[in-house]
Amino acid sequence: MDDLTRALEIAAASGIDYRRRLPDRPQRPELSYADVLSRFRRPLPEAGEGGSAVIRALGEAAAPGLHAHAGPRFFGWVIGGSHPVGVAADWLAGAWGQNAGNHQAAPSAAAAEAASAEWLLDLLDLPRESSVGFVTGATMANFVCLAAARGEVLRRVGWDVESKGLFGAPPVTVLIGDEAHATVYSALQYLGFGRDGVRRIASDAEGRIRPDAFSAATSSIEGPVICVLQAGQINTGAFDPFDAIVPVARRASAWIHVDGAFGLWARACPPRKALTEGLQNADSWAVDGHKWLQTPYDSGYAIIRDAIAHERAMTTAASYLPVAAGGERDPSHFVPELSRRARGFATWAMILHLGRSGIAAMVERHCRLAARMAERLVAEPGIEIANAVVLDQVAVRFGKGLPIEEADTLTDRVIAAVQADGTCFAGGALWKGRRIMRVSVIDWATGEADIDASADAILRCWRAVRN
Ligand SMILES: *Cc1c(COP(=O)(O)O)cnc(C)c1O
Repeated sequence: MDDLTRALEIAAASGIDYRRRLPDRPQRPELSYADVLSRFRRPLPEAGEGGSAVIRALGEAAAPGLHAHAGPRFFGWVIGGSHPVGVAADWLAGAWGQNAGNHQAAPSAAAAEAASAEWLLDLLDLPRESSVGFVTGATMANFVCLAAARGEVLRRVGWDVESKGLFGAPPVTVLIGDEAHATVYSALQYLGFGRDGVRRIASDAEGRIRPDAFSAATSSIEGPVICVLQAGQINTGAFDPFDAIVPVARRASAWIHVDGAFGLWARACPPRKALTEGLQNADSWAVDGHKWLQTPYDSGYAIIRDAIAHERAMTTAASYLPVAAGGERDPSHFVPELSRRARGFATWAMILHLGRSGIAAMVERHCRLAARMAERLVAEPGIEIANAVVLDQVAVRFGKGLPIEEADTLTDRVIAAVQADGTCFAGGALWKGRRIMRVSVIDWATGEADIDASADAILRCWRAVRN
């Protein structure tokens, strides 16, 4: 076998071996960043090395710094578990080396996106005329949606932002909940709105926009408006009250955008769908594949009802690029990049693998497992759950009844102990001014036994810290 074939085989074998061991290894990296950096940092090679030696060296350097993001007891962030079927599809995307820019250069890559887009709209039950951009994640999905929003609200007042830019443009009012995800502010920053140039609307204890505050904010606005709503708050899993807010935003002629990075998947789960009621009347939606759909990174979807506004904001045209004359879909017309990975393959494969009922069952199972975790923890003296567990998120506080500072310290100490223990991984966050341990149940492989072992470990750590 030649060395380059060998390199591919080593990569496959070591990837498979890694996944086989993942459930039983500590759900955290063995070495710190500084330690693994010293493994990667070596003199710049003057002469190259053979392919199989390079892949072996990569495996050896990386192994101790790999975090168990795909592990069944990793609850650290709201991210999926890079399902093996999606990983396999992604390996093929890499092996096939398709540049997914347009339908002529890469017919299969473009077709997989087009077909997956139809499936996504069906699964998420969003307006079927919407267009879908396959982006790197929800950050860029928010960016693409808000770029289309910016273009359209300004076009309606006679301003062509795609050609003239924002110089001299009429001001646009952006309304956003005060517990929106940090990446939405990043998107607004890239679009020239500024992180602080927007109007933050007060939210309730679960982080949901308060309808009265929203109505008050819209009553005094003149000119173009964009509203950013949220499906699935990062700490609580809560949904904005769309039925109350969307009609008010409509009356203000706003473009309504929903950040639903993980929460939008509740629409694919009949028992949870009511949480999302009303968001289908928005104009655009950001959602991730690498969260609840379990595709590998990077995979997000920018969904926009007005396909023309979408293309106007994103189309890359050049003399050497083909024009889609027969209704073909060019992936690059819906995203910021031209050359890009064929993201449609992993999405197509995951939907084909799980199916509508598999996705619904998985989302429901995760929500029930989150509730089980909350029940196990709250039964212990000194532990409180800081959110209503409506989805897959559990916000845990330790030191119930103690002064805030003391409870914050205890909470951070429990988080450190849980991470050192390694049975499971959970991280910390600041929620409404107080420290919480956040447990996100969203990995396809997580089962009841994982929740019970993790709850046992968390309780063990709490008892040790408390004493
Ligand atoms: C994860 C998340 C994002 C950012 O998504 P990326 O895929 O990390 O870019 C945005 N909003 C919410 C609510 C999220 O949970």
